[in-house]
Amino acid sequence: MPLSAQAQAQSAQKPKWTLVIHGGAGIIEKGRVTPEQEKGIAAGLNAALDAGSKVLAGGGSSLDAVQAAVQVLEDDPHFNAGRGAVFTWDGRNELDAAIMDGRNRAAGSVAGITTTRHPVAAARAVMEKSPHVMLSGAGADQFAREQGLEQVENSWFATPERRKQLDKMKANDKLGWFDVDLKYGTVGAVAMDQDGHVAAATSTGGLTGKRWGRIGDAPIIGAGTYADDRACAVSATGAGEFFIREGVTHEICARVRFRGETLQAAAETVMAEVKALGGTGGVILTGPNGEMAWTFNTPGMYRGKASSSGDRLVAFYGEE
Ligand code: ASP
Repeated sequence: MPLSAQAQAQSAQKPKWTLVIHGGAGIIEKGRVTPEQEKGIAAGLNAALDAGSKVLAGGGSSLDAVQAAVQVLEDDPHFNAGRGAVFTWDGRNELDAAIMDGRNRAAGSVAGITTTRHPVAAARAVMEKSPHVMLSGAGADQFAREQGLEQVENSWFATPERRKQLDKMKANDKLGWFDVDLKYGTVGAVAMDQDGHVAAATSTGGLTGKRWGRIGDAPIIGAGTYADDRACAVSATGAGEFFIREGVTHEICARVRFRGETLQAAAETVMAEVKALGGTGGVILTGPNGEMAWTFNTPGMYRGKASSSGDRLVAFYGEE
């Protein structure tokens, strides 16, 4: 049967591939971010968009694209993931990451790892090379090492800026709950590839001053990271405890799948529920039809998007 004019128009509009990334949400306002920081953060987001777009434009998988984009951000000290991760109360860096494949809902994640250079690569190895979904601590690093993933000293992740944030938190004698500057620098990426499959990845150092082995939402499948070809791919950033309680990324996908909501509507509803619980942060999304969306209930979110249709944007603040 010939396609209707409307269906033809829709398929002509549908991008062949999409990529959306974030570098954290929080009190990100004009005047608070120095021009120098703005430049560095924009360069990092652009490099991540370039890395992911290259994979997708070349016909690569959404899984490879989200990993490529996140690894760029893990290496960039401007973001709270990999190098540049926030410090724990004990002055170390403990990293969480997850990745998920929308084709079959295969997933892998790591929590509290300390020596694997690219935590998202460790998550991918858990997904593909182990019978498990989630590994933690020294065992997860050992697994990553056995898989041949690059290992570094824990000090490789440390930066003077993050050390200062920990010192400031301790000097203020604040309990180590949330980031002193209320800025969550977690990174994430979601993508749709030319075969119409979606994937999501998230990577973070968690919260400044975290202790007692605290784990956030990023490595918890369905909280900070989720991908399902029947709905969409989502990566979150924000006060992880609230995202875990709400089951944010799965909840968004469920609304899309069962209620047929747009990604934007589903994300806004679920983020309003997070806010009602007292949580702040944001999410990025893309769906198998090439829809792209984001929303945040903080003043800003470092974010960017690109697509085969020529979308290309890097933004920091609200209303951009
Ligand atoms: N969601 C992360 C966590 O709670 C923090 C962040 O987004 O920066 O660990």
